Amino acid sequence: MAAHQFQTEVSQLLHLIIHSLYSHKEIFLRELISNASDALDKLKYLTLTDEAYKQIDFSPRIDISFTEGEHPTLTVSDTGIGMNENELVENLGTIARSGTKAFLEKLSGDARKDSNLIGQFGVGFYSSFMVAEKVEVITRRAGEENAYRWTSDGRGEYTIEQDARESHGTTVILHLNDNGREFANRWRIDGIIKKYSNHIPFPIYLHYEETGWDDKGNKKQDKVQKTDQVNSASALWKRPKSELKDEDYYEFYRSIAHDSDDPLLYIHTHAEGTMDYTTLFYIPKKAPFDMYYADYRPGVKLYVKRVFITDDDKELMPVYLRFLRGVIDSEDLPLNVSREILQQNSILRKIRQASVKKVLSELEKLAESDKEKYIEFWKEFGRPIKEGLYSDHENRETILKLARFKSTKAEGYTSLLEYEIRMVPEQKAIYYITGQNEKTLRQSPLLEMYNAKGIEVLIMDDELDDVIIPMAGKYKEFEFKSVNRSDAAEDLKTSSDKEKEQEAKPLIERIKKALGDRVKDVKASTRLSDSPSCIVADSNDPTVQMQALLKSMGKNDIPEFKPILEINPTHPIIQKLGDMEDGTEFSDVCMLLFEQAMLVEGMKLEDPAAFARRLNNMLDRAVEKK
Ligand code: ADP
Repeated sequence: MAAHQFQTEVSQLLHLIIHSLYSHKEIFLRELISNASDALDKLKYLTLTDEAYKQIDFSPRIDISFTEGEHPTLTVSDTGIGMNENELVENLGTIARSGTKAFLEKLSGDARKDSNLIGQFGVGFYSSFMVAEKVEVITRRAGEENAYRWTSDGRGEYTIEQDARESHGTTVILHLNDNGREFANRWRIDGIIKKYSNHIPFPIYLHYEETGWDDKGNKKQDKVQKTDQVNSASALWKRPKSELKDEDYYEFYRSIAHDSDDPLLYIHTHAEGTMDYTTLFYIPKKAPFDMYYADYRPGVKLYVKRVFITDDDKELMPVYLRFLRGVIDSEDLPLNVSREILQQNSILRKIRQASVKKVLSELEKLAESDKEKYIEFWKEFGRPIKEGLYSDHENRETILKLARFKSTKAEGYTSLLEYEIRMVPEQKAIYYITGQNEKTLRQSPLLEMYNAKGIEVLIMDDELDDVIIPMAGKYKEFEFKSVNRSDAAEDLKTSSDKEKEQEAKPLIERIKKALGDRVKDVKASTRLSDSPSCIVADSNDPTVQMQALLKSMGKNDIPEFKPILEINPTHPIIQKLGDMEDGTEFSDVCMLLFEQAMLVEGMKLEDPAAFARRLNNMLDRAVEKK
């Protein structure tokens, strides 16, 4: 018998599982059944495609049994691919994925301590330790002679020894702890399987004992061994829609998405004609926790004629739809399609193309039929969807229709169509303001002129918007214009604005001198009414927020883009400033105009102490006057 140490990450995970996970403990059974089903899928595939496996007797089934009493046990057994010694070490002793550290942090920090996360991350086997003080795995790899027994109490170590097993497959025996005792019960097991695993496409048998009755209705002494098939064991997605109820779809979702919640939406499509395929997609209610990790787990599985091919192909659906869960099943692909070739496969590409259109059009329908539910969706998934604006040109227009924004006029969210309807007659563009904080944005002086003219401005407080919207092109004939940029107000200038600009020229030259290279330029503004000054970015420069974002991402080599200071020529301060002589006081006022405009935009000052000194000088004079 050989003792092994768990990889550190596994030990940490097990520690968390044993000591702090308490919601949805029952999901351990879903995870074990899902592993058994995967093992059957793998063997099925090999027996159909690989000469070496064609002789193997493939009689797929999952068997569940339990014992009651002082030391209750629960056993899940499958006739799948099994594992050899090396695979045992690799699969049940290590976690090879790179997001593990982040996952562990998320799990230990998550207030809900929700065991669902375990399944989502793909370490479901370890959830057995929520309910078991000891776990044994007896397994034999298909095509190999030796069987092995893996044993652990989940505390740092496991052992592997040679064992016997009649045929290939895996048996997992849980020695239940006090938390797990309740699961050694026929009805409890039956209920969990029906809830989470009803549509696993292989038969699941539950073995139990029943007290026998004789003809006269008397209890017989001997208990009778019984076996029932618990699940319906059909590929749900292949069944006609008319036969399926919401609850059927939801059950299937819970098993494939490792979620305990119902989905927000499902989309089931049988396509026939030039191509035969079936797709069943789900949108979860809540975003998968790894949605923003580069190594997120894709949620769509590929089948060919009901044979599982892969659940680890990020190309099956576009990245911006990575939150989708579900199944693609093609009748036209060859069974032995290699994973490397999948991406260039034209059938798959067409299925993907049609599927994306289908999903987007269903979302459009939802937006029409149930606004509230759609907003719920948008709050969870609007961010990835917006990525589609630059990554999916073909569907850009639809995605623009689906997009929702906060705005200066709408309560909650607005669509671009609703915005268009509210446009003022002379308006030629869609205006938006970007920044980090909705409240700051709503009070920004940059909005003053737009508010005064009754022009609606979209509020974009997601740092992603600053990057995406400029790439989104036009909505119908309307360009998107960032209010944070110097040229946004150009087309709204009146002839009297232009006159004022001329008049302000000499003063502007003097302010430029006073500010030196702190600014790229100083301009007369037409966008201000109540504030004396504001800062904007030059038309092709990144905005101040964008620069801050790039810096926070560790990009320190970006050149410095200086802001443009705009002054309001009609403001009393600016008018009086024109009458001031050059000198320290004049340049202090110029600096304060610049600095307060930076602060209003939520930016940091280069020299806050100097700012405070200048401000205090002004305060000094103000109190002296009284
Ligand atoms: P996941 O199944 O999501 O990959 P798990 O932690 O549940 O993560 O399982 C780890 C690995 O152990 C699986 O990927 C699989 O290779 C192996 N495994 C688990 N259960 C079985 C089983 N019943 N038969 C064969 N292999 C299994």
